[in-house]
Amino acid sequence: MPQSRYVTSLPEGRLECGLCPRGCRIPPGALGRCAVRGNRAGVGTLPYYGAITAMQVDPIEKKPLYHYHPGSRILSVGFVGCNLQCPFCQNWHISQAGGGQRIPSRYYTPEALIHAAQAEGSGQIAYTYAEPLVHLEYLLECMTLAREAGIANVLVSNGCISDAGAEAVLRLTEAVNIDLKCFSEGTYTRLLQGDLAAVLAFITRAFETGVHLEVTTLVVPGLNDREEEIDRGVAFLASLSPQIPLHLSAYHPAYTWEAPATDPLRLQALASRARETLAYVYTGNLPGSSQDTICPRCGRAVIRREGYRIDTSGLCPDGSCCRWCGNALPITVFMSK
Ligand code: SF4
Ligand code: SF4
Repeated sequence: MPQSRYVTSLPEGRLECGLCPRGCRIPPGALGRCAVRGNRAGVGTLPYYGAITAMQVDPIEKKPLYHYHPGSRILSVGFVGCNLQCPFCQNWHISQAGGGQRIPSRYYTPEALIHAAQAEGSGQIAYTYAEPLVHLEYLLECMTLAREAGIANVLVSNGCISDAGAEAVLRLTEAVNIDLKCFSEGTYTRLLQGDLAAVLAFITRAFETGVHLEVTTLVVPGLNDREEEIDRGVAFLASLSPQIPLHLSAYHPAYTWEAPATDPLRLQALASRARETLAYVYTGNLPGSSQDTICPRCGRAVIRREGYRIDTSGLCPDGSCCRWCGNALPITVFMSK
């Protein structure tokens, strides 16, 4: 059984986990709060190492990533557990599992996972669904092998991780979508059991490392949908670059959160407001709403999206600019397109 790399020993056989800001102090025989990292007789254990709860090929737009290989498909794998406890979690049956529960899963060594990706043939793997970063040791093994095999690593994460973990994973990541759940330290710490500063640091590091970066905020009525709060998140992203794509997604009641679903008109209004500052703001989970990418200079559609049908004919052949006006665009496409 592989051992945790992110623990330090404490008196009486306890371990302190430094992988995320929760800093769990784990007694012998127990698990940390993510319920997937343990302490067996003073040794950091990873009882769910290689346990894959879901494996399927998705459109990359489903991650969501709209500016990275648009129209491509990606092998997507999911894991047990999460270090946050969002009461509206849409994947709660796996994110809040672990702790010895028997979750339907199949074990893959890192080598077996890369073989599966090679057999599938999309050339990219997304580590996604619940929270991949609580399985960082496994991720780093897989990502290293993927790099060697010419397979791109895509991460979909809550971004709530220590500096050491962030540095290690982003070195091996080609593209990331990070959840910015709200812009309130109090909501992060009291309700979600997370840490806003750590998430902002992760977003900043991803941007500065040159990883393709997109950000998602699930707009939950009464929780994070005040204009001032959305404005603060938008201003933070714009301080890095106004070209970072932001996905404002509609919430639907899930897990223990019973507030009514996000009003589509409210979500559209928030998106319009965000577009005054950011060049690319999309609404998610709103069937029928336009998801096209519009050239900020000439106003014409460069990528048209109808569900998961993607038309990139508005891009110049290498994807770097608008076909209609030649404006440079922050979009990565497969060169074979
Ligand atoms: S990764 Fe898990 S065990 Fe480690 S500090 Fe975070 S919640 Fe605790
Ligand atoms: S961070 Fe994501 S997976 Fe984890 S509890 Fe929150 S919504 Fe669920």
